[in-house]
Amino acid sequence: MKRGWVVLRWLAALSSVPLVFSLVGASADEGRFVRVTAEDVNIRAGGSTETAVIGQAEYGESFHVLGTADGWYHVRIDATQTGWISAALVSETKRFGALQDEMETVEATASVVNVRGGASLLYEVVGQIQPGTSYPLLQRSGDWAQVRLPSERTGWVHTDYVRVAAAPTRDVAAAERARTGGEPPLASPASNSQNAPTATLRERTNLRSGPGLNHAVIRVGAAGHVYPILAQAGNWLQVALADGQRAWVANWLPTLSGSLATVPVQQTVLDSSLRGRTIVLDPGHGGVDVGAVGRRSGVFEKDLALSVSRQLYNKLQATGAHVVLTRPDDRFVSLADRVFLAESQRADVFLSLHFNTHHDPGLTGSMTFYYSPNGADRQLATVIQQELTATLGLPDLGARYGDYYVLRENSQTAVLVELGFLTNAGDEGVAQDLGRQERAAEGLFRALVRHLTP
Ligand SMILES: [Zn+2]
Repeated sequence: MKRGWVVLRWLAALSSVPLVFSLVGASADEGRFVRVTAEDVNIRAGGSTETAVIGQAEYGESFHVLGTADGWYHVRIDATQTGWISAALVSETKRFGALQDEMETVEATASVVNVRGGASLLYEVVGQIQPGTSYPLLQRSGDWAQVRLPSERTGWVHTDYVRVAAAPTRDVAAAERARTGGEPPLASPASNSQNAPTATLRERTNLRSGPGLNHAVIRVGAAGHVYPILAQAGNWLQVALADGQRAWVANWLPTLSGSLATVPVQQTVLDSSLRGRTIVLDPGHGGVDVGAVGRRSGVFEKDLALSVSRQLYNKLQATGAHVVLTRPDDRFVSLADRVFLAESQRADVFLSLHFNTHHDPGLTGSMTFYYSPNGADRQLATVIQQELTATLGLPDLGARYGDYYVLRENSQTAVLVELGFLTNAGDEGVAQDLGRQERAAEGLFRALVRHLTP
């Protein structure tokens, strides 16, 4: 019933037949609000994709509706600005901040809880959350929670080290600002530790934007200056500057005190590492096409594929890559439209996510298909199998040739991953476990970073 309504709604929104909304006119309808149900939704100057993009809305944000027309909502952005959002990307809520009624907050349960730039340990630590302070929870993605930090910044914390609670007030951040008369500072890593390791410069030293001589000099530190060490990567140390900025210094230049044993090691600095790259993630099936059905639980492949895709999307976001989902929610999208999206976006990678079936319920494992046997497709499929089976832990059924429409008709680098078998009881359990979904997304994430990083 509900699904049918959703399908009708988006068919109406996407087809040339416009949705007929009541026109509210110039005066605001005090009682209508919409909540954004997709990632990075464009806010436009008018009710058409031909008009200029004037802003973006995040998943879960809500807006006051001023009026509607032809499949678009006219919404209030702030005190002075209004804009238009496609009705396909929002849903109406009873009142503003309907999300906030259910809004959750996170609080640190360990003395040191790192905040990372993205939803993976591969991301660098950008700060820590303060014990005793509640931070609004924006979204969960597997074992990761995205929180709102002071100054409208956001970051990700691992849910093993936080407690999630219902928000005590409508807007925790605002309440906190009102209570303290200012914004709570975001602690710099290790700043609350007694013997935090430090680097003392022996002479005037270049401080760089990244861990290597190829990175820009952003400051020159004076001899005798002491900096807290935040992280290490190879032979480089990340230090905190007095103004809260971070910079990198070669570890052979300063005198070190304290132990580096507790300083987090960064394998890769991912922030901005995939800038300029485009990744199209394709959650298989959707809408009336449910895909495979779990043999024991009746779970739909379309829902599992979307869940893993969203987690992967969240992991990729902070790399600077342009990440596009062929469907942000439960809707039907034709195979041709999926390929068209990959080509029109000139995707560096098109990655289709699925779960498999087999007449033998004993068959278990992950496999990745490519169509073009030479070059990037096969290479990427191989890397995915390596990383995916390492993190997810299902048997490696290999990178294989597969004659699938979304691969065959695709001129971009394209692979199709079958994460596991919904006909196998073990795989089906893994597929439904949020933690294991996160492991799958992590493996795919690592593979994409490996494939796209020179
Ligand atoms: Zn499928």
